[in-house]
Amino acid sequence: MAKKDRYAVFGSPIKHSKSPRIHQLFAEQTQQALEYTAKEVTSERFKESVVAFFAKGGRGLNCTLPLKELAWAFADLTTKRAELSRAVNTLIIQDDDRILGDNTDGCGLITDLTVNHDLALTKSRILILGAGGACRGILAPILECSPHQLVLANRTQQKASDLAAEFCIFGDIDGCGFADLKGQQFDLIINATSASLADEMLPLQDDLLTPGGICYDLAYGNRPTAFVRWGVEHNAKKSLDGLGMLVEQAAEAFFLWRSVRPQTKPVIDALNAARNFVSEV
Ligand code: NDP
Repeated sequence: MAKKDRYAVFGSPIKHSKSPRIHQLFAEQTQQALEYTAKEVTSERFKESVVAFFAKGGRGLNCTLPLKELAWAFADLTTKRAELSRAVNTLIIQDDDRILGDNTDGCGLITDLTVNHDLALTKSRILILGAGGACRGILAPILECSPHQLVLANRTQQKASDLAAEFCIFGDIDGCGFADLKGQQFDLIINATSASLADEMLPLQDDLLTPGGICYDLAYGNRPTAFVRWGVEHNAKKSLDGLGMLVEQAAEAFFLWRSVRPQTKPVIDALNAARNFVSEV
């Protein structure tokens, strides 16, 4: 039997990663002979683990928490979107053995919002909560959609102001703290904080979402996140979690590795069925 090309996701913790299942479903659907595994790799072991993986013939890697910045620093060359986010979630070995680093997170979010959920970002008033690594990855793609307004609010206000100053070359963007949101309303609120991972809700005012607006949490889990529940309680037309983004960023990585674009809907449907609720509440 022909040897399968090897791919993997590295991170810590990694036990609950859905990436092996997603890539297995992509491979079956597109009839690609590959294997994709998950490996627990800490920051301390990152470099030696990546070097060993590629030395043994590995074709591509995904890197997740807390390794994305290390992967960015490790790559021999990087794409523009990886440079902007200063984080890499996909490593690809090239014909000349150099390692290319890319970041597919921003593209995954935009595809989920605009294709899967048919949302028009142009002319929307958009609020992003959080100013960490994930936020860096989604700012430029969102600004490229020419929203009517983009505000970035973070618990540590200075980080939001710094990011806004850095990304204003792509379009108008204001950075502020949560308290500064008083009196403002948004059509789309994206939660890019990690508060949902601890099931914590952010201090948001009740009238922050336009009636019939959309909430989107980058975080996802086996039940609706605190922010998704907040959206439902505040009459969001849709209150979504980041499962669709996860599958879309994986599809983009798969395309970079295999030059084949898998269909994502059957995979999102399968993951929703496995966790017993749909990412859209
Ligand atoms: P970081 O650790 O880089 O940033 C965390 C951010 O959350 C910071 O802005 C931090 O604020 C804020 N924060 C954390 N806890 C709280 C709290 N209790 N109240 C208010 N703000 C808080 O994380 P990432 O940017 O890498 O990840 C953010 C989220 O995005 C995670 O839930 C992650 O799982 C998700 N994600 C989902 C993806 C997907 O495919 N669906 C892809 C990538 C990320 P401060 O600066 O003040 O500390």
